[in-house]
Amino acid sequence: MRRVSILGATGSVGQNTIDLIARAPQDYDVVALTGGHNISQLAADAKLINAEIAVTAYDERLEDLRAALAGTDIKVAAGQAALSEAGARPADWLMSAIVGASGLAPGLAALEQGATLALANKESLVCAGALVLETAARHGGRLLPVDSEHSAVFQALTGEDIETVERIIITASGGAFRDWPIEALKTATLAEASSHPNWDMGQRITIDSASMFNKALELIETKEYFGVSSDQIEVIVHPESLIHALVGHTDGAIMAHLGPPDMRHAIGYALHWPKRRELPVSRLDLAQIANLSFKAPDDARYPALRLARDVMQRGGLSGAVFNAAKERSLDAFIAGRIGFLDMAAIVEEVLNRFEAQTGLIDAAITLDNVMQTDHLAREWADSIMVNRAG
Ligand code: NDP
Ligand code: MG
Repeated sequence: MRRVSILGATGSVGQNTIDLIARAPQDYDVVALTGGHNISQLAADAKLINAEIAVTAYDERLEDLRAALAGTDIKVAAGQAALSEAGARPADWLMSAIVGASGLAPGLAALEQGATLALANKESLVCAGALVLETAARHGGRLLPVDSEHSAVFQALTGEDIETVERIIITASGGAFRDWPIEALKTATLAEASSHPNWDMGQRITIDSASMFNKALELIETKEYFGVSSDQIEVIVHPESLIHALVGHTDGAIMAHLGPPDMRHAIGYALHWPKRRELPVSRLDLAQIANLSFKAPDDARYPALRLARDVMQRGGLSGAVFNAAKERSLDAFIAGRIGFLDMAAIVEEVLNRFEAQTGLIDAAITLDNVMQTDHLAREWADSIMVNRAG
């Protein structure tokens, strides 16, 4: 029996993980499930897969969770510290699928216990890549990528020598606004940005796909995880979302990874690694697909990609600034306070002001410094938005 925990169990990646685990209950001993506001889902899943403990991120939801699990012997807890304790509970394998920088501390706790951490939470690597990798190395923890592009690169690299890698190409669907005139993006609505042409994901990452902030985070994630230089990483728009990534070698060969756009593939690969097991995903019918298409990304349409390249060049804690400013401007877009194109403009302004006015970007990459930088960048994003509105 493998002891497993799912951080962010109530979200899109979390639910896909539970789907796989619930198909083979005899193989798993479920330790902790964490969620946020979706208490009924968290309680239902904790019962379904018989978790030891269910944790909500929010103190004020503890009593609701306790009530939902009354009559069971499943323990309950709440709050940020309880999330990290969930990560630290002895387990062999943990899924990191909390959205945002809040996923960093619980994931580090999992690596500190020497566990395998399946990492969907790309923000951990964007904000604190060196810290995450060092923590894994120091405690004998293993980090497996779950983001579909990074799982694809990881699989394409199996048996290869990273020294012969010339380029890593990650694909992008182009998101909801791929074919819109650029002028129309200014007035794009929340509903329009919240529908993805190919993938069924959480709302935040779906909007980030429309703006390409998701791909921007993934560029940084690629650099951190695989240790290549930023000019070795390319993005290509591939509307069909069937090739997830390609790895080019010094002899000119390119290894591509294809699969259906179903996160249960990347999650299942990380769950069963280093073996492959049968997964409940559809099989590609290449004759029916007939064509795969590609297009260079347009920097004018997707300023987030240029900002990510600046962040990769700058290094240090600029990834934490970038992510926090992005999260705050995304909150404001979701709340209807700013327009779609304002998000990139605000992130750029926060990055510039941070660089000019603080020495924080060059501080050591510790959890405290990352969280301090994160808070400050959020405050600055808020004040920039207030000024723009006034
Ligand atoms: P969702 O928004 O669907 O789910 C997020 C999860 O995190 C939920 O369990 C949510 O709880 C919980 N949560 C939200 N805010 C907090 C917080 N402040 N503290 C603790 N927990 C919180 O996200 P996704 O599943 O789409 O994405 C999860 C992560 O995986 C992200 O980093 C995303 O970029 C990455 N990813 C997602 C993919 C996808 O297909 N969805 C693909 C590749 C990567 P609740 O809902 O109960 O409030
Ligand atoms: Mg991805």
